[in-house]
Amino acid sequence: MTATVVAGHQLLVGGIAVDRLAARVGATPFFAYERGLITERVTAVRSALPAGIHLSYAVKANPMPALLQHMSGLVDGFDVASAGELRHALDTGTPAARISFAGPGKTTAELAQGVAAGVTIELESATELTRVRQISQSLGIRGRVAIRVNPDFTVRGAGMKMGGGPQQFGIDAELVPAVLADLAAAELDFQGFHVFAGSQNLHTQSICEAQRRAVDLVIELAASAPGPVRYLNLGGGFGIPYHERDRPLDIAPIGANLAELLVTKVGPRLPAARVVIELGRYLVGEAGVYLTRVIDRKESRGKTFLIVDGGMHHQLAASGNLGQVIRRNYPIAVASRLHEAPAETVTVVGCLCTPLDLLGTDVVLPRAQIGDLIAVFQAGAYGLTASPTAFLGHPAPAEVLV
Ligand SMILES: *Cc1c(COP(=O)(O)O)cnc(C)c1O
Repeated sequence: MTATVVAGHQLLVGGIAVDRLAARVGATPFFAYERGLITERVTAVRSALPAGIHLSYAVKANPMPALLQHMSGLVDGFDVASAGELRHALDTGTPAARISFAGPGKTTAELAQGVAAGVTIELESATELTRVRQISQSLGIRGRVAIRVNPDFTVRGAGMKMGGGPQQFGIDAELVPAVLADLAAAELDFQGFHVFAGSQNLHTQSICEAQRRAVDLVIELAASAPGPVRYLNLGGGFGIPYHERDRPLDIAPIGANLAELLVTKVGPRLPAARVVIELGRYLVGEAGVYLTRVIDRKESRGKTFLIVDGGMHHQLAASGNLGQVIRRNYPIAVASRLHEAPAETVTVVGCLCTPLDLLGTDVVLPRAQIGDLIAVFQAGAYGLTASPTAFLGHPAPAEVLV
């Protein structure tokens, strides 16, 4: 319950008591995202980062169309990683020049859609360069391209590494000069570079270090570039606290570090560069809650189970099966009994017929009854669209932006 407002005995989401919101939605389970919290978070990021830094939203974190529409009024651009995300990003009215298209497996058809739209294609391999060159020729459009670099360093503390060592992402830094030489011979609009080293990082200092090293690397690569660097995407990787022992990320020092990098390095060496920070979960993760109803209570050999109508098919991450090595509980509450003291230790399980479907193991909660609503927090990013909704054949949940 890090951010969502609580009043009386009911959890409020977007100012609406959850019982009433559930009635409005018409069925459980469902996801609710708070637009006010998203706005607040973007404002906080903007005030921590130096003026002039462009903020991009990684659509993958939560591509709900209404949320994207809201976000389009708050951020400077979108990063997409499929033609489907591209279409939703364009639907918001965001200018194509502010949309970047990343991802290691872009098909020829997807690349053609991106070139036709006029977005910046982030080249992740030499093959992609060849394809974009051919597409640009056949469409008669100078494709906008940037190079996604797989850096020669790794970031400590990232929950998910996406750069350094052998990677399917980006072009290895040492191979970039040769690709730039090919690019110079092509009729393409070279924009710059993208370096994204890792996700879900809660360590301020390692994020600062990664940004410093990314800037140094790009300055070095710029010497081989066919034109000035106009786009410098430093990635993001800002993490959010999912578990009891996680401390929220302090972003003020990251802003100070970026301000210094702008003055000492980017300004003098890459004066034409628009510097972009690209965030997904940090902007939306804490603004969402998954609400599911208790459909059974069961005692089994001394252990109490609350069985809910949702589960891992909607919120895989909370079950611990989205890449986690050790399963730890996401914050969870009985949303309709916030005034009651914790009274029992229970295990909250989903309705799927698999032992993997856990939402809370041995959590201490007020005594919940059949019909009560359970809230699983930190559900605003990598929730519904990162979950196996077809597994066990239950209906898909609703999503609302409130
Ligand atoms: C997934 C992804 C992001 C967003 O990561 P978060 O951890 O949600 O901030 C940003 N950039 C790229 C290229 C990505 O693939």
